[in-house]
Amino acid sequence: MIFIKTVLITGASRGIGAKTAQAFAKEGYRVIINYNKSKAEAQTLADMLSKNYNTDCTAYGCDITDSKAVAEMFSEIGTVDVLINNAGISEQKLFTDISDEDWKRMMATNLDGVFYCCREALKGMIQEKNGSIINISSMWGEVGASCEVHYSASKAAVIGLTKALAKEVAPSNIRVNCITPGVIATDMMKGFDEETLESLKEETPLSRLGTPEDIANMTVFLASENAGFITGQILGVNGGFVI
Ligand code: NAP
Repeated sequence: MIFIKTVLITGASRGIGAKTAQAFAKEGYRVIINYNKSKAEAQTLADMLSKNYNTDCTAYGCDITDSKAVAEMFSEIGTVDVLINNAGISEQKLFTDISDEDWKRMMATNLDGVFYCCREALKGMIQEKNGSIINISSMWGEVGASCEVHYSASKAAVIGLTKALAKEVAPSNIRVNCITPGVIATDMMKGFDEETLESLKEETPLSRLGTPEDIANMTVFLASENAGFITGQILGVNGGFVI
């Protein structure tokens, strides 16, 4: 009997998450494509991947800031072998302009959502004594970004969560790792003008912006047996921006 592994990717309707879903479909995984607002995009992606890779890909709508909705999602999809906490939002604002609502929305999506999804996924993983969790943080969580203090703080917290959780669940054979992407060309960068993008490219030693595939490739590696001795690590995929 062939054992088919299941991966849940949060925020997989677009950008990094969508390419990550494709990379896992290619590996033959059953893929759960979580989305919040982009239902049509998620459904189209699920249909396309199911067809092209002859595997089971399902779109599942759930706002990860809602702990009850997250619990329902996991009770419907069952145990997952791999969880990728990718969903996230960003915002550029002067620190003194950040409102209570801005702060709470940022933390709810980028941190609380990771907490809720890890908590639910771990119930099945601990029982199975097997699992891999990959959190998508940001290089700004490592070094801090001006005018993105709430974003940087939320992503730094994900790094802390990764390290502590990795220690706690390692005895259950569950690995928890974190990727800190550099500047990746997705909708998230749409708010930046050409000049800013060009200077970010220049600041990147490899002289290009990253692609969603650059991050997707790392997630597939971290979920694989080849990464079986890697846990609690923060892996920069940033073209050398942070060394
Ligand atoms: P993106 O293109 O803006 O896509 C964001 C994804 O997150 C969408 O699929 C969106 O779903 C989902 N999402 C947002 N809020 C959600 C919620 N409450 N519940 C469920 N899903 C939600 O962003 P991206 O660039 O691919 O970023 C993916 C991750 O990489 C984020 O965590 C981001 O912080 C991180 N990252 C990105 C960069 C970069 O340069 N792009 C750099 C470092 C780190 P809907 O469209 O369905 O709402």
